[in-house]
Amino acid sequence: MTTETFEFQVEARQLLQLMIHSVYSNKDVFLRELLSNASDALDKLRLEKLRDDSLDADVSDLHIEIDVDKEARTLTVRDNGIGMSYDEVGQLIGTIANSGTATFLKELREAQDAASAEGLIGQFGVGFYSGFMVADEVTLVTRRAGEGQGTRWTSRGESTYTLEKADDAPQGTSVTLHLKPADPENQLHDYTSPWTIKQIVKRYSDFITWPIRMVPEAADGEDAPEPETLNSMKALWARSRDEVSDDEYHELYKHISHDWREPLETIRLQAEGTFEYQALLFVPSHAPHDLFTRDFKRGVQLYVKRVFIMDDCEALLPPYLRFVKGVVDAQDLSLNVSREILQQDRHIRMMQRRLTKKVLSTIKEIKTKDADRYATFWREFGTALKEGLVTDSENRDAILAVASFATTHAEDEPTTLAQYVERMKDGQDDIYYITGESRQSIENSPHMEAFRDKGIEVLLLTDAVDEVWVDAVGEYEGKKLRSVAKGEIDLDGEKDEKAEGEREKQAEDYAGLLGWMREQLDEDIKEVRLSARLTVSPACVVSDAHDLTPALENMYRAMGQEVPRTKRILELNPGHPLVKNLNEAYKEREDRSGLVESAELLHTLAVLAEGGQPKDPARFVKLVADRLERTL
Ligand code: ADP
Repeated sequence: MTTETFEFQVEARQLLQLMIHSVYSNKDVFLRELLSNASDALDKLRLEKLRDDSLDADVSDLHIEIDVDKEARTLTVRDNGIGMSYDEVGQLIGTIANSGTATFLKELREAQDAASAEGLIGQFGVGFYSGFMVADEVTLVTRRAGEGQGTRWTSRGESTYTLEKADDAPQGTSVTLHLKPADPENQLHDYTSPWTIKQIVKRYSDFITWPIRMVPEAADGEDAPEPETLNSMKALWARSRDEVSDDEYHELYKHISHDWREPLETIRLQAEGTFEYQALLFVPSHAPHDLFTRDFKRGVQLYVKRVFIMDDCEALLPPYLRFVKGVVDAQDLSLNVSREILQQDRHIRMMQRRLTKKVLSTIKEIKTKDADRYATFWREFGTALKEGLVTDSENRDAILAVASFATTHAEDEPTTLAQYVERMKDGQDDIYYITGESRQSIENSPHMEAFRDKGIEVLLLTDAVDEVWVDAVGEYEGKKLRSVAKGEIDLDGEKDEKAEGEREKQAEDYAGLLGWMREQLDEDIKEVRLSARLTVSPACVVSDAHDLTPALENMYRAMGQEVPRTKRILELNPGHPLVKNLNEAYKEREDRSGLVESAELLHTLAVLAEGGQPKDPARFVKLVADRLERTL
């Protein structure tokens, strides 16, 4: 029989090195990871057999078995589930496909000390490889259900692993850990002790729905005793609240989420009546790295009458709650139910509505009761939740009630819309906001000048989704949401006649320049006007109230949609010497060709000031350099 040797993929090798030299203090969790994989393998086989009755597999006694051998110092976790083919072993065990892991490794390399490295391991969870925290060699023997031939995989966790055919492999997978030498200082973590194993199973894996068996040690001279089932297999979601400890809930969370940290909140819902179901949902305490990628696996697990049906069941929660993990167990669905059927099922839609409301009301409760926990929640998941303002009009008010936003009112304390409205000045009718890349860039934008001057609060919105929801929502409690960079802004409220007269005179005085500039800048600008926004800067560009902002335009283009370029409006500050002088020069000269560059520069400065890019950076630099030279 031939044995082939393979190199681990680079990421896998790094991860293994990390496990071998692991600083992770809670090494017991390797067993949870192996049991979790075994339990998934049993679920998969049961489902496959259900779909295809002709599959040549034995499903009469699906279970997990743990064997310890004190003498040989080995620990084996065996399941009679789906197993893996020869090729699958190479793919699944030899490489790391999870994109989050690459991020994880990068952060890990940058982690300064052991404590932060440990924190990172806890964040990501490393599945099968965690066995190398406690073993110096791992052997995996597996046979895919329905196939004749098995496979043996072995590795010492260094750079290579071996694969060979195994003729005698039973259906399913067994993972044997050759444990590192015993640590006499640390009896509690002696993984050849049945007592230790029992404690760990009880602690981390009690709820697994398949029996986890272990054969107790035989006393000298006696026959081998009957195997003992270590877990209660009770579905936590079906038990009453006072029967289950927080710890038990948290372990279930870790089992289904592959997160090693505690969840932020546990949500229980028991629906009785014609369509009965139980839900146990968790809000994680940290957003996963791939929350905003297209292939993020969203949704909770679906069970039917205690039997696992599918992972990532999208139909149960809307996309903006995709970070919620958990289990939903429905009593009246068919075991054969498919994703397509679920999408159309009336009961499932009702369930989704109810679960959504329950999650939102729980967030509201957190917000009322615990400011710190709410702050964590919003920091991690606020951006996702805001998508709901656009897509879920039914729950818009509930989402707005728990949403908060950065504001000019306070440096690091976000505000709700309700708080904003309470602080609004006499005579202020609208809620003002500004959108952009970062707080710093928008706080210093020229659009803010008059607002800062008059002490009017502005919301600082820096997520891409902000551009969209403000339009979708439009108003809050009868107050319009208005961008400080859109439309005409007049903050003076009541106008006295004197000021009015002055303004008219100014308009007359500038009429020529404004019209001329509009012609010069025709490619990008549809109107040039005097500004009520500016106090310090000479000029700024604004959009019409109903135009797309540049950021939105870019967003649509990035999504591959064709959008026409929107011309914008240039506003000049008649109080600024540069603008005044330009106007004087305009009025004095017959030949204005020398002013064209000044008009162009003024426009580019306005674009730069709001964080935009000059259309032709090289030309801009040349114009500025020429002018600087002349001033020397
Ligand atoms: P994860 O479980 O997070 O996907 P692992 O490294 O633990 O990562 O496992 C990688 C893959 O190997 C699993 O997704 C599964 O497809 C396969 N696998 C692991 N253990 C078993 C098992 N006991 N039976 C069948 N397949 C398994």
